[in-house]
Amino acid sequence: MQRDSNRKIALERIEILFELASKSDDKFADRYVYLARKIAMRYTLKISQNLKKKFCHHCYIYFKLNRVTIRTNSKNKAIEYTCSDCKKVTRYGYRQKKNK
Ligand SMILES: [Zn+2]
Repeated sequence: MQRDSNRKIALERIEILFELASKSDDKFADRYVYLARKIAMRYTLKISQNLKKKFCHHCYIYFKLNRVTIRTNSKNKAIEYTCSDCKKVTRYGYRQKKNK
């Protein structure tokens, strides 16, 4: 029980960090991403899909509009996030889940 409530608080803190990151300068935003990842690791939490898309998965900078190029790739059925810092691409599929 105790552990569950700690994890809930940790999740909230992660959300708050991302919220702060969206309002901060690049340098601070990156720091908030770093902290959020650290919390997630400590509590073995998954960062939600929604938040995952807000930072680079290679160099972990916070994606502001001027730091990322977002394109859709209809061939792969994916949205491609190209990081302006490390130039690497992170892809997220937009294909709808198939009913099994
Ligand atoms: Zn990057």
